[in-house]
Amino acid sequence: MPRRAGQVAKQQNTVDTVTGSDPSEGLEYRLRLPGPTAVPRHVAQATAMPVVNHRGPEFRALMTEAEALLQPVFGTKNRILFFASSGTGMMEASLANTLQVGERVLVLNSGQFAERFAEIAKALGARVDTVECPWGESPDLAEIKTRLSGADYRAVIAVHNESSTGSVAELAAVGALVRDTPALLIVDSVSGLGGVEMQQDAWGVDIVISASHKALMCPPGIGLASVSEKAWPIVMREASFPRFYWDFRKAVKNSENFETPFTPPVSLMNGLLTSLRSIHEEGLKNVLTRHRVLADTLIAGGEAMGLKLFTHGRLRSNTVVVFEVPEGISGGDVVRGLYDDYRTVVAGARNRLSGRVVRIGVMGDVDHETILTDLAHLEAVLRKLGHNVPVGAGVAAAQGYRDA
Ligand SMILES: *Cc1c(COP(=O)(O)O)cnc(C)c1O
Repeated sequence: MPRRAGQVAKQQNTVDTVTGSDPSEGLEYRLRLPGPTAVPRHVAQATAMPVVNHRGPEFRALMTEAEALLQPVFGTKNRILFFASSGTGMMEASLANTLQVGERVLVLNSGQFAERFAEIAKALGARVDTVECPWGESPDLAEIKTRLSGADYRAVIAVHNESSTGSVAELAAVGALVRDTPALLIVDSVSGLGGVEMQQDAWGVDIVISASHKALMCPPGIGLASVSEKAWPIVMREASFPRFYWDFRKAVKNSENFETPFTPPVSLMNGLLTSLRSIHEEGLKNVLTRHRVLADTLIAGGEAMGLKLFTHGRLRSNTVVVFEVPEGISGGDVVRGLYDDYRTVVAGARNRLSGRVVRIGVMGDVDHETILTDLAHLEAVLRKLGHNVPVGAGVAAAQGYRDA
């Protein structure tokens, strides 16, 4: 007998079955990645609303409100462009719309996602230069300035919140250097937007791209872009890299009508609108502060257990906490232990930090209690792996941090 589609879906798509016949079956699944992030229940429910005509009044109202609520999150008065896309698709789109064959870009190489941006630029056919900096540190502003005066760059490319290192770029300072040159400043804020302050207009960022599944706490699937007045004449050039689906010219034309050129992820847009309403109800400033406090609570607890923060001080991220694991322990073992024993899903690294770090997101449906639980789990796993942690040290430090 062929199985009905519904049966297959039920067996394969529920989180419960991920546990299979494992003895820890029934544990709650705890998504604590730097993205995708845990989606609050009311946002998930909004994605289950009936699908509406994407060129009808209901969707136009949705898109109108979503844009209005996103603009303050971006810190912009620009139109917001919506795509069905992951974050990487938007990185590619930002370059396909601004570059011509042979043009040069300057990538501020602060980590893995900056490296990805450079790879995309190369794949498209741009000439790519980089400003190198040690991971966890900030690219040297004087070097950026020198490089900009020494060559004809079409764009400077930066990552707002580098999820591989847990560090935040000094965008206001970079923007001040790029503003009066012909170059555009293109920024990946996939894991920043909604968790780390972004002031696109004030800082002179020409293109900000982002996505739904990080601090905007929606399921993956919506890509976002905001394009400055300085950038539009560049985007409008005929002889750009090949583009069709990603063409910002089509997207902005359709946006006048609160439509997208092609079918948007209607259900996800319902979720995004719900999430944005929550963000504004709480107050954008409070939302950013909440991420800061949650990250610092986790940092206080981790440090009390002997974990070293990868990016220190004012560059440390609000949304992604990166710890170096103690000597003799592999980051991968910590990731596996948290999953096997607690169904807590954190990230390791698949780059030059492989084995050395664990990366934990504090975005999405996370509160103080979530962090305390994470720390208790982390402690048990570290102890099991032979790292001598005083009982309750992490949780005590986290509690102490909040009460301080
Ligand atoms: C998650 C992330 C991306 C995009 O990843 P996708 O898997 O394509 O959504 C890009 N940049 C940064 C900094 C990210 O954290």
